[in-house]
Amino acid sequence: MNDQQWFVVVLYAIYVIECIWWVPCGAVVIRAAWRSWRVAHPAPGLGNEHGSFVFLPLLPWSKPSFQCGQWALSLSETDVYAYVAQAINPAGRPIQSGSKIAIQDVWEAASRGRDVLVNGQVFFKATCEASAWHYAALIEQLRRTQVAEVSAAIAAALRHALDPQAVQLRVADLQKHLAWLRAEGCVLFFLMMVAFSASLFVPAIAAYQLMILIAIAACMIDIVRRFYAAHCTLMPAAHLRRLGSMATMILMPPAAIRASDFLGRQLLAEFHPLAVAAALCPRDEFRRFAREVILDLLYPIMPICPSKDEVDQIIESDFRQQLLVSVTSMVRNSSEDPEGIIKPPQPDDPSCVAYCPRCERQFYATAGACDECGGIPLTPFAQ
Ligand SMILES: [Zn+2]
Repeated sequence: MNDQQWFVVVLYAIYVIECIWWVPCGAVVIRAAWRSWRVAHPAPGLGNEHGSFVFLPLLPWSKPSFQCGQWALSLSETDVYAYVAQAINPAGRPIQSGSKIAIQDVWEAASRGRDVLVNGQVFFKATCEASAWHYAALIEQLRRTQVAEVSAAIAAALRHALDPQAVQLRVADLQKHLAWLRAEGCVLFFLMMVAFSASLFVPAIAAYQLMILIAIAACMIDIVRRFYAAHCTLMPAAHLRRLGSMATMILMPPAAIRASDFLGRQLLAEFHPLAVAAALCPRDEFRRFAREVILDLLYPIMPICPSKDEVDQIIESDFRQQLLVSVTSMVRNSSEDPEGIIKPPQPDDPSCVAYCPRCERQFYATAGACDECGGIPLTPFAQ
């Protein structure tokens, strides 16, 4: 290939790379689909124990996608424990720090990138910068709350994280900024990927190359300007993320076509993925995902809590019960029946006599356990 052909290949490669997200374990992407959104897990087999890739729609006019992490802390009236038994991804439970601290011993909570810092030390790593910021703010809030009111503060935080109406309001705020960004993204795609690429090979179009380059520059400047204004309005505290996204768009121009994804990616980081699914996904997708989330809360991967400390185990167990109550309540408020959603599966064939209550793999013997879920005992099918 000659230099011009290589240049076009690099342009398209940068664009495609921007359509692939690295997503850490413990997070999902609520990915834009044709007319709505779907839940996408990091692709198994492509990544490592820390995460994997999620592929977004390639079309420049597709809706934005959102990355959301599972709830990351076990909380009690007195302690913050950076461990949960949940594994929202089929690939398994994310690696966690297991740090624990008494709320009364916290004198400062902050975030630095994905790290949540407590008393200046890394307490745990969140799934994204925005999530780290929200958890640091929550720990800071608990620190400032009277002991008698900590339980109410935790319950309020869970209600907010599981509030589909709040998700819809946030997405409505985003939509106000997206119309122009998406339109300009489409124009930039045509100018850069079609017109400019063609100008390198077609002499008749090459005569207009300077004009095309000026139009590309004007379009890029306006996209970056609109992105900056929208980001300042939607996520005023995310300075580093804002600067990083703008630098990417300026240094790698095809990335500017995906400005709406830069804007949306961490917008819903403060919400539980199930609340986002309730707000955005079709009913069948929400029910399927709710089934996974509730079964995972009811039957966590074994061992449920790796800590030998009985207090740690009680904090994890009690908080998981509280989260389960909050999740089932949200599902019920979304006009769905949680008991109906988690009804037992039917045998795939008559020789299947038992299933794993968590992952629902089916077995030919009732004795034994599901190795994929760490040894959860099998449940026989009802006769
Ligand atoms: Zn299983």
